[in-house]
Amino acid sequence: MPQGSYMRTIQERGKLVAGVSQDILLFGYQNPIDNQLEGFDIDMVKQVSKAIFGDENHVEYRAITNAQRIPLVQNGSVDMVALTMTINCERWQQVNFSSVYYDAGQRVLVPRNSHVQSLQDLGGKKVCAAAGTTSIDNITHAPNHPVPIAVSEFTDCMVLLQQGQVDAISTDDTILLGLAAQDPSLEVVGSKFTAEPYGMAIGQSHPEFVRFVNAVLEKMRQDGTWATLYNRWLGRASGGQPPNPPGPKYKD
Ligand code: GLU
Repeated sequence: MPQGSYMRTIQERGKLVAGVSQDILLFGYQNPIDNQLEGFDIDMVKQVSKAIFGDENHVEYRAITNAQRIPLVQNGSVDMVALTMTINCERWQQVNFSSVYYDAGQRVLVPRNSHVQSLQDLGGKKVCAAAGTTSIDNITHAPNHPVPIAVSEFTDCMVLLQQGQVDAISTDDTILLGLAAQDPSLEVVGSKFTAEPYGMAIGQSHPEFVRFVNAVLEKMRQDGTWATLYNRWLGRASGGQPPNPPGPKYKD
């Protein structure tokens, strides 16, 4: 790694410090059988570790909440965050992002017998999402006024839904797929009503690290790694062929 670069700092430290989820099945999830973190986001981190160290396991994972993503990147506690994180203008003011590595969109999860088809059917009803997410903002600003219920983790939403304390959960289709897979009495309904392009968040003082991560992503798009990882985590849930990976757009 070039002298003076942030990659060199990480290399000399001997590990990449990554903020991830431990309870989002398919993206960042601690498998109770072997206690290892696994998922699409975790594999993104592993590819970055491999590019720096030649080994995907030089990573110190920090399990963080959605609301901690920006503060922990800003104060340097983590080198990067890979946690189903939407790139948007407001967040660009606070952190840097890699190019897009996944295109998600917000949908709704409800009990199978609920007759709800979309957020439009949930005016005046309690709809849960994690604090510090675009999901809770979208629920709060929906014109038909659902009642937003903000909790720490999406698995907390799941418990509230199972107990009948909320009427629905609304967040990215990716996260909802993972929740639905854990409880067959729930179903994801309606189509995507937002665009949630995922990027890895990196501190604003390390633009060379952003470029480095973008090169890792570009290699993954070109050599088929992205498609392999898509199939590993999302192939079964989405059925059929992997889509084309999102194309990169660079600032410079
Ligand atoms: N992707 C959205 C966000 O970054 C919602 C889901 C999440 O936070 O994990 O806010």
